[in-house]
Amino acid sequence: MLNIVLFGPPGAGKGTQSERLIEHYGLVHLSTGDIFRFHLKNETELGKLARTYMDQGHLVPDEVTIHMLKDEVTKHSNPKGFIFDGFPRTNPQAEALDELLRELNTTISVMLGLEVPEEELKTRLKNRALSSGRADDADPEIIANRINVYNRETAPVKAYYAAQDKYVAIDGIGSIDSITERLFAAIDARK
Ligand code: ADP
Repeated sequence: MLNIVLFGPPGAGKGTQSERLIEHYGLVHLSTGDIFRFHLKNETELGKLARTYMDQGHLVPDEVTIHMLKDEVTKHSNPKGFIFDGFPRTNPQAEALDELLRELNTTISVMLGLEVPEEELKTRLKNRALSSGRADDADPEIIANRINVYNRETAPVKAYYAAQDKYVAIDGIGSIDSITERLFAAIDARK
């Protein structure tokens, strides 16, 4: 299996690039943000719980997120691989993912980190707010919150994969196509 973690701060382009990677490599896309938004929209119990965190730019608690992710992974029989987008976002999530994949006799192939300077991220999120309809995109204070949470809780996950020699930095500035080419090259070098 080819299992990729697509990593990077809010606004780095994970969603856009994921679409290209799943198409090119035939992978299953698991975006925890998208899955939570699906639950929000359908007003499930999980959605109601997640909303209280998401709308403030906070993380949904690990145990809730890990449980949901496990359910999603085990829905697929014989996948070619997964692209994890927005997960793991904390070290406990990364440990839980390793354990889950071990049970499936597989492992993470590579973590691709889209690196984008903070000023550029803020501009992108402000622009996205005009079309996304996401409450967490609309307010500069909430955007700042998400970037702080990223720096504090999520950035350390990079070291977790670097310690396994699986972290590859990708320059996230440039045209969408040129970034896709960088990602393809990094994946093909690891396959
Ligand atoms: P972003 O644009 O910040 O990358 P996402 O769509 O990935 O946004 O996620 C939106 C929100 O969903 C996050 O701010 C968080 O509240 C929640 N969320 C998504 N993934 C996770 C996760 N792995 N752990 C905890 N909360 C998460």
